[in-house]
Amino acid sequence: MRSLIVLALALAAARPAPAAVPKVVTDFAPIQSLVMQVMGDLGTPEMLSQPGSDPHSFTLKPSQAGALAKADVIFWDGPELMPALDSAIKALGVKALSVPLLDEGGGKTRTFSDGQTIDPHAWLDPTNAQAWLGTIATTLSKLDPDHATTYAANAAQAEDALKTLDAQLTKELAPARGKPIVEFHDAMGYFAAHYGLNIIANIELGDAAKPSAGRLAELRQTLVGGGAVCVFPEAGRDPRYINVVTAGTGTRIGAPQDPAGVMLTEPPTADFYGKLLTDLAKTISDCIAGPKP
Ligand SMILES: [Zn+2]
Repeated sequence: MRSLIVLALALAAARPAPAAVPKVVTDFAPIQSLVMQVMGDLGTPEMLSQPGSDPHSFTLKPSQAGALAKADVIFWDGPELMPALDSAIKALGVKALSVPLLDEGGGKTRTFSDGQTIDPHAWLDPTNAQAWLGTIATTLSKLDPDHATTYAANAAQAEDALKTLDAQLTKELAPARGKPIVEFHDAMGYFAAHYGLNIIANIELGDAAKPSAGRLAELRQTLVGGGAVCVFPEAGRDPRYINVVTAGTGTRIGAPQDPAGVMLTEPPTADFYGKLLTDLAKTISDCIAGPKP
């Protein structure tokens, strides 16, 4: 028995050290889900946003500085969505490889409806997520070449699943194509461009700008003039404006949308990204279809 143990120890010592899976940090739920799909059973990334918090108002807790300091790589949307994370990475002198997917993920970028500022909500275009899966796999493979085939296989599988989902959602949203709709905040540009949706107005302009009374009156005009079929509240944001704007217009109010996962009560799982797109598509297809007879 003792000799067996000695032999086992000798063998263990002779074997090369197992390849270290990189320590990965992500910013918020959609990106966490995509990275989880690529890492699979090899490890779990650490998400900085608390489940259910709004990425727009992200601040780094002092206790999270350690996670950033220890990380090998940070996958995040970029400084446009989370300026506080950008500042923290710079201020802390973080050594981890920083991969802002909006700029370096290989997907498309758009501007907000003002046509000027870069719109960071790029995860809402599933072709961007497909490109990002590839970038995540390539980046992890460089840091951890021993698991390169696993990262590549996981990413390929995730991309295939996403293509299948995208085809289903394209079909589901076909009746909504071109129908005038109004969104709560200017987050849905990527989703709309990809699925041919016609957003005629956003109640909040840009991120976190509260509409004035004048702006609400103007919106009401746009709604009526543009023949808006549906307006969508947003999870975690004050729906009061919606009622003010739509009262007496005949525009239907859809189910609240959650483009960033602010309604999560637990850490996201790998399948979260697909659910996010599925749920968004359902709010739109349900509202466009109108009340069930
Ligand atoms: Zn936003």
